[in-house]
Amino acid sequence: MKVTVIGFWGAYPEEGAATSSYLLEKDDVTVLIDCGSGALAQLPKYTNAMDLDAVILSHYHNDHIADIGVLQYNWLVQNQIHKTNKILPIYGHTADQAGFEKLTHHYTAGIGYDPEKVLQIGPFSITFIKTEHPVHCYGMRITDGEKVVVYTADTSFMQELIPFSHKADLLITDCSFYAGQDGSSAGHMNSIDCGILAEEADVGRLLLSHYPHFGDRTELVKEAKQTFTGNIELAKSGYIWEG
Ligand SMILES: [Zn+2]
Ligand SMILES: [Zn+2]
Repeated sequence: MKVTVIGFWGAYPEEGAATSSYLLEKDDVTVLIDCGSGALAQLPKYTNAMDLDAVILSHYHNDHIADIGVLQYNWLVQNQIHKTNKILPIYGHTADQAGFEKLTHHYTAGIGYDPEKVLQIGPFSITFIKTEHPVHCYGMRITDGEKVVVYTADTSFMQELIPFSHKADLLITDCSFYAGQDGSSAGHMNSIDCGILAEEADVGRLLLSHYPHFGDRTELVKEAKQTFTGNIELAKSGYIWEG
């Protein structure tokens, strides 16, 4: 399967980039994981928005769903132009009904996922973990039967993430803070937390994402290296992992 970083910023996008959004592809099945601010402007570099088979959302904070509204307009306008009736499924949790209800529009259908069960979308089997965050949020463990990608979504460090991420080929983490800063009250991890999680879970590669808007972000990698001996990279627009 192939993962492409569409957006990697936390909170808001900086010039020419987007907040949390990742493209997952295999065998002509294309799934967008989270749909942050700026995602729709980045997406055409990699795929046509009308070629998405599904969207899956970790939670309803704006930096993960800001472009859902314009994605719905995209599907409305394109269906009208081409006189089609394609419907895009958007999977979200139902713990926040107000957030969930916004997923359904003329040509998008909100579908509630049960975080206790495995969600199957095409070749992808997705399991969930409830994270520690100010609102209901779910991390995802995604496998195509061969490789495993884990996306922590937004969370502070929690022990349960270690078995959940066990032996993942790619681990994408919320890295909102630098070493020595405690992000737990805001429901986020720092670089050291990310390294510890990657080391304890024995993952193949750590991709730091959901960056802070201050400091020298290359330091995040150096800091995470103190606790994880494997490969560490900083997420950026168009970063591709294939496995
Ligand atoms: Zn976020
Ligand atoms: Zn959040």
